Formats: sequence, C-alpha cells, structure tokens
Amino acid sequence: MSPSVDVTVGVLALQGAFNEHVQLLRQAAQILASRDNAVKRRWAFAEIRTAAELAACDALIIPGGESTTMSLVAERSGVLEPLRDFVKVLRKPTWGTCAGLILLAESANRTKNGGQELIGGLDVRVNRNHFGRQTESFQANLDLPFLRNPGGKGFDTKADPFRAIFIRAPIVEKVLPVVGGRQEREVVIDGTVVAPSKPVDTAVVKDFHLGDVEVMGVLHGRAAALDEAAKQRLDAEAEDIIAVRQANVFGTSFHPELTGDPRIHVWWLEQVIREVDQRRQAN
Ligand code: GLN
Repeated sequence: MSPSVDVTVGVLALQGAFNEHVQLLRQAAQILASRDNAVKRRWAFAEIRTAAELAACDALIIPGGESTTMSLVAERSGVLEPLRDFVKVLRKPTWGTCAGLILLAESANRTKNGGQELIGGLDVRVNRNHFGRQTESFQANLDLPFLRNPGGKGFDTKADPFRAIFIRAPIVEKVLPVVGGRQEREVVIDGTVVAPSKPVDTAVVKDFHLGDVEVMGVLHGRAAALDEAAKQRLDAEAEDIIAVRQANVFGTSFHPELTGDPRIHVWWLEQVIREVDQRRQAN
C-alpha cells in the first residue's frame, strides 16, 4: 500500500451546519497527523451539492439542520437517489448528525405524509423533535465509551465529558429488526415514513455484512438539564438512545459540529481510513 493515501470526505451542503463540520474535520485531520507513527494521509474535505461531487467522495457527513427541507432540496437537485446509492448500495461510510440522523433512519415519526423523504441505511425508527421545541433545546455532558478506543489513542469522556447540544433533536425510539431494506411493518404506522429499499452492490462491496444496530451512546437523566416543571413530567431515569451505528452508517442526535470538540470527528475519520484501506486492498 502506498504511504500516501488520498481520502475525500464530503459534507452535504444543501442546508444546515455544514461549514462547522468542515472546520472540525480539518482539526481532526491535524490531530491524526500529529500522532506518533501516523500514516500520512492527504485529505480533501468538500462541500457536496451535486451528484457529481458526491461521486468523488469516499465518505460523507450529513449535518444538522432541517431534515424536511434537506430532503426536498436533495430531491430537486437530483441528489436524493445518488445519496441512497452512496449509503445503501455502495455502502460508503456516512455519518448523520441530528437532521442527518433522521435522514439516515429507515423509519421516522412525526413527519407529514409526502413531506419527508428518507435516505435510510440505519434500521431504526427515530422520533423527530423528541425533546420539544427550539426553546427546549439543552446541553448535556455525555460519556461516549466508544471514543476510549481500548488499546489505542482514544479519548476518555468519563474524565472529560463530551458537551453535546440538543436542538429539536430526534432520538432513536426503536431499533428495528434487521431486514436490510424497506421496513414493511413500519409502513402501516400512522405518521411514520420509511425509506425505500436498495440492494447492496456486492460486485463493489465484497463480503458485505449488515449486522445489527449498535447503540453507541445514551443520554442518562436528561432531567438534570431541565426546569422544575419539565422534571415533574419526565422520568428522570429514562435513557434515550442518542448515538447508533450499523455497518457503514453512524448517527448522532446531537451536534458535535456546534461545540467545536473534534473528538468524535477524530474517531470517525479513523473508521473512514480503515474502510477506505480495506476497499482499496480488496479491489
Ligand atoms: N428537528 C429537525 C428536523 O426534523 C432536526 C433539528 C436539528 O438538526 N437540529 O429535521
């Protein structure tokens, strides 16, 4: 393998907080490069608005914003189907934050019929705007054990928690049985939209294994961040699923791009490198 590998990471730039992601990706790449024995990588971080730009990407981030608007703009600009192919057919690494997580879910609640298209890829049902309106946004300290990266150079979020912002955030309210396609059982639930199924291209993606949805992060005792009235209404012990991964797709309910903490971006770029190297070796 060549010591210098070019990796192109796109950030979908149709709407929302895409610029913030690009900044954090740059910081994350610097952190990776500064590590001992780091293999030199030449990164390109690109804003993505068209199918042609998407085709050049090895991996993609879908930012926070407004998922309904994003899906409408994607459809109008002819990038919705290419996005579905990127995630579900080519199975390239994709990370969605907040609105991005909604778009990557196979099923979503509280969506107007006909008003929302999903990309899919994660066998979960998300509940949009789970915590209420914009004014009910809050911050919370998270422990994200996957960042510890046992044996590696991870980050200890127990000692130094990840400060996360939740703005009209979705949560994963249900992990769905893995069928790897259209969630037929979900179709019949009122007010729920589902993503269309797409077969994996096994000629490009060899030995693909979908696997189960992994819960990567939960929000404990959200009540700590709430006012007295809200505390009365809510179960302080409730645990909301706010980070998940399945095969090539990763999703978070919150906005790491708005707090300027690059630790999740560092971790995710490491996953991207692994995937890109594997693909290049296989082909
Ligand atoms: N509630 C928004 C939606 O449905 C997501 C909010 C966000 O990305 N901050 O798309």
